Amino acid sequence: MSARCLRCRYPRTALLAGVPCPECGEPEPPRDWIVVQGRSVPGNPLWFVAGACLLLTMITIPALMVVRTGKYVFLVHGAFLLSASIYLFYRSRALYLSLEDGGDVTWILKPDVIEERGPHWTRETSWRECDHVLFERGFTSNAVRLTVTKREAMGDKGLPSIWVDTRVHDARQLQAIARERIEHARR
Ligand SMILES: [Zn+2]
Repeated sequence: MSARCLRCRYPRTALLAGVPCPECGEPEPPRDWIVVQGRSVPGNPLWFVAGACLLLTMITIPALMVVRTGKYVFLVHGAFLLSASIYLFYRSRALYLSLEDGGDVTWILKPDVIEERGPHWTRETSWRECDHVLFERGFTSNAVRLTVTKREAMGDKGLPSIWVDTRVHDARQLQAIARERIEHARR
């Protein structure tokens, strides 16, 4: 079950089973892999743009302080606001571009492990280390976050978590499949 090519995100929905990706040649993922494309953050990219614009207007405050006091130390505050707003613009662009492709995060539910693929990272977690699967609704009705919790949270760098669009994915079914794999790994 895979809606898009794992390498180039080409939509596989119209392809026959077993056919490699016509764009990049990536073979069809094995049948027991369940591929979920989602997002690292909920919400609309416009919220990030709004935040960036707000920070940019706040730059007038340190600028005024420099003018009034003559102390250039306020430039540090200005530089901080500028870099924060640039980061927010960058995030909004990344989010906007990834919407067409189904999101910036991919989960691959394999028989033994859950693999997460982000824009610059990949992580595998054995189902045996997992405890249960949380289902949380977001601010909008079609946003759901799935989080896989671990049995031991020691030295943990964040749990596998993904925002899925319920118009694209059946989030309850995905939760049930992940639960099933955790239970199966314990046997
Ligand atoms: Zn491809």
